[in-house]
Amino acid sequence: MKKSGLAHRKSLNDSLEGEVKAFLLDEGQLHTYDDLTKVNPVTPTTVLKCLQARYRAKVFYTHAGCTLVALNPFQPVPDLYSLDVMKEYHCAPQPQESKPHIFIVAEEAYRNVQGQVEPVNQSLVVSGESGAGKTWTSRCLMKYYATVAASSSLMKSQDTVERIEKRVLDSNPIMEAFGNACTLRNSNSSRFGKYIQLQLNRSQLLVGASVQTYLLEKTRVAGQPANERNFHIFYQAKDCFDETVEAMVHLGINAEKQGHIFRILAGLLQLGNVTFCSAMDESQPCDLEEKSKDFMHRCASLLCVPVEELQTCLRVQTLRAGKQSALFKPCSLADCSVRRDCLAKVIYAQLFEWLVTFINDSICADHSTWCNFIGLLDVYGFECFQVNNLEQLCINYANEKLQQHFVAHYLKAQQEEYVSEGLEWSFVKYQDNQGCLDLIEGIPTGVFSLLNEECLLNRASDAKQFRVRLEKELSDNGSMSWDKFSKQPHFTVAHYAGKVSYQIEGMMEKNKDPVPPELIHLLQKSENPLLHQLFADRDPVGQGTRGLRQVVTVVSKFKNSLENLMKILHSTTPHYTRCIKPNTDCRPLTFKKEEVIMQLEACGIVETIHISAKIHHFKNKVNFFLFFHRDGPRRKSWYRSCDCTDFVFVLQALMDSLAEAELDDAEDLQEAMPTELDPILRARGSVQ
Ligand code: ADP
Ligand code: MG
Repeated sequence: MKKSGLAHRKSLNDSLEGEVKAFLLDEGQLHTYDDLTKVNPVTPTTVLKCLQARYRAKVFYTHAGCTLVALNPFQPVPDLYSLDVMKEYHCAPQPQESKPHIFIVAEEAYRNVQGQVEPVNQSLVVSGESGAGKTWTSRCLMKYYATVAASSSLMKSQDTVERIEKRVLDSNPIMEAFGNACTLRNSNSSRFGKYIQLQLNRSQLLVGASVQTYLLEKTRVAGQPANERNFHIFYQAKDCFDETVEAMVHLGINAEKQGHIFRILAGLLQLGNVTFCSAMDESQPCDLEEKSKDFMHRCASLLCVPVEELQTCLRVQTLRAGKQSALFKPCSLADCSVRRDCLAKVIYAQLFEWLVTFINDSICADHSTWCNFIGLLDVYGFECFQVNNLEQLCINYANEKLQQHFVAHYLKAQQEEYVSEGLEWSFVKYQDNQGCLDLIEGIPTGVFSLLNEECLLNRASDAKQFRVRLEKELSDNGSMSWDKFSKQPHFTVAHYAGKVSYQIEGMMEKNKDPVPPELIHLLQKSENPLLHQLFADRDPVGQGTRGLRQVVTVVSKFKNSLENLMKILHSTTPHYTRCIKPNTDCRPLTFKKEEVIMQLEACGIVETIHISAKIHHFKNKVNFFLFFHRDGPRRKSWYRSCDCTDFVFVLQALMDSLAEAELDDAEDLQEAMPTELDPILRARGSVQ
């Protein structure tokens, strides 16, 4: 009995292996794989081939186990997001069994909110590089909820419900007008991170929303890289202006407030044209270029500040000498430009913050009216440019945090569950990025702490000196390295998505982000009520170098807001969507393998698939024993209903189970197989 059983098992194994191999070699079928965990073996190449085949077949969504991969079509796809499609996914008894789509993720989160025992808040994390489709995806998700969670209930006036959904959606064009810009990578690139919480009441209806933004790229208002543009709003006097204004009206930004906003923006445009030249007498402040005088006057008039004072505070530094007296020191030519840019940046950043607060006041529901939320996170992806500085360090740090969250959620949790159930069969190895996080956020010796310390010392920043300090304190960390041949002081961090070298020059200054107190004093005098309001509560001295000890640095502010975000994410059930940009030229239906593979590596997708596949496989193995031992009727009906892909996949898992099973279990399985599996295998032609 034992011998014949084993012989049978061997022949069955051989035939199954043959079928599995044949199946995998059939490239013509690759586009039918709706889950990358089914690709075997999972390698960057096989995953890439599968995605490419699907892209060719105009299939843009693919599951990667517990995440969804979204390929950017770079052209409108008719009916992919229509009302009917929304309804189809919303009404499906098992949406997971429908074709992969962002609406599956949306619907799963929506159903999860109600939870079986108690409601659970949900987070949808959308990641990917610039231009990959994050913002588009977030918009789709918002529209989905604004549709499926809209009330048709007679209990509420249709009017009120429509208004809140419309207002929530209207926050998009305003935030995009002020926070997005045309860059080389994306003509509508978001220059800030965003987490929006859609608030649902007990009946799962959308009753409001709140928005949190992260790290607006305010330097853009003062200058842009070649062939890139300023924020959209500065160009909208022709294009999209009506849409922005209409959205403003819906959110309650009335004509008077709009007037204040547009005067401020016009003032910034005038300010951008102001240039300086050295004075004849070097002890005197710099002069204005002749052609700049008009710009300066117009700027002062639009910002509603005295022109003389504006000119002075851009060109003269005020040094306080005791409470009463002050010394005046002419700024260098370079410093004058720094001050001009600083003025533009501080005004724009403050205006953006005011808009976000205003939007929140307009769309946030009263706490008593909502009980759960679905959060949508649209953050910048991992960045590695020719030159990387503090912005990239912050962005990549955020991505490390999210990756750690992802791994902790999907892997550690799963393994712990299995251990607690006594099913410690095999452990999945995963890349733990705690070392890299310690390097960046460690206290007291992490890059951020050392950077803050350096800024608090209140001395002229010296990149070389800081580099020595970093090397002394952090060389033991395996994620840190140095290029001995590099001329510029720098440090290299091994992120989970790849190595990035960060330039130290300018990093301390960016972290301090000082605003001369004279500028704040000036703005507090503005007769533009909005501009005045933006700075009314600001302590001018706290922003200057003298008060640096109270100043919140850029990294400490960013770290705090990220920690808050992580706390929220940890309290929710997350769903990850990875957006992929199939080519850098944003061309429709063009799939560049080299570019895609880099992104797959950068977002750790292959590792993710491995993790998911292992979990899936792990679960399958557990299920198989239960399945074969206990559930005969379910097993038989499943044989009849499963499709070819599932069938082969499951058979493969079964083979693995057999290979690893204890002998007693294996015999049980074999006894079940001849009677149940052979007819099916014969019918499929794989057993002669
Ligand atoms: P990201 O936010 O990741 O930088 P976007 O969401 O702004 O990228 O997408 C960039 C552009 O790609 C969009 O403006 C749009 O033209 C196109 N795009 C993205 N996703 C889709 C999609 N699902 N269907 C059609 N076009 C898309
Ligand atoms: Mg975006």
